[in-house]
Amino acid sequence: MICNLCPHSCSADRGERSGSGFCRLGTLPKVARIAPHMWEEPCISGTRGSGAVFFSGCTMRCVFCQNYEISAENNGVFITPARLADEFKRLEDTGVHNISLISPTPYVDAIVEAFGIYRPNIPIVYNCGGYESVETLQRLEGYIDIYLPDFKYSDDALALEYSGAPGYVETATAAIAEMLRQTGEAAFDGDGMMTRGTIVRHLVLPNHTRNSLGVIDITEREFPGVYLSLMGQYIPHGKAAEYPKLNRKITSREYRKVRDYLFSTELDGFVQELSSADEKYVPEWDY
Ligand code: SF4
Repeated sequence: MICNLCPHSCSADRGERSGSGFCRLGTLPKVARIAPHMWEEPCISGTRGSGAVFFSGCTMRCVFCQNYEISAENNGVFITPARLADEFKRLEDTGVHNISLISPTPYVDAIVEAFGIYRPNIPIVYNCGGYESVETLQRLEGYIDIYLPDFKYSDDALALEYSGAPGYVETATAAIAEMLRQTGEAAFDGDGMMTRGTIVRHLVLPNHTRNSLGVIDITEREFPGVYLSLMGQYIPHGKAAEYPKLNRKITSREYRKVRDYLFSTELDGFVQELSSADEKYVPEWDY
């Protein structure tokens, strides 16, 4: 397969198990963990958890990624689309509120094939880094009920330096607009669980509050009415130690500054406790 699924547009040749593109992935899904997950926003995790499928690999290469072993080093095990469909069913049978596809973009073809075999009767969540191509998102229309994109940067230079993602701001803005076009306004069931909608997530980085304020500005300007989820869970992972500005947790002062700025806007959403910056919330990659 010649791949242009994500904004890298590598036109790379991807075999079944490996490829020559930026992500180095083959087309056969590789996963690191499939299990109920309790640590998403309350309207996603609820009381029974979100049925998380953690895919290996990523279209970004964030030097600080908390999932670095699977996102950048591509650790995981291969599964076929048929097995993926079985896993959707197995997760659904545990009573989870939804199926959450985490970092799924390089495997869109296999995921659509899996839905052709089994389509869960609970919402499908697409959890991604925001660096998405509109064309690929359009292929997902009708399959995805909830989008959970990150909006990591308001500064393209940071996106390139820390995540290897050129043109991030314009690309993520166009991608989130497409997600909102598909889902429309957020909808919830009687228990407060999201059944449809888009939540934009932003992780505050140490020494980069200006970047965060810029993300809030763009979100308010471009997507009024969207839910914004502010995350303070940053811990230096991956290669963060090689970047002095990134090599610590965020301070409560930094977090307060960003949070108070968010509260001064009309945006609604979620604010994570700073105590969530703890290794115990990093899932175990037990494949
Ligand atoms: S999914 Fe991988 S191979 Fe395809 S365009 Fe993106 S980085 Fe390149």
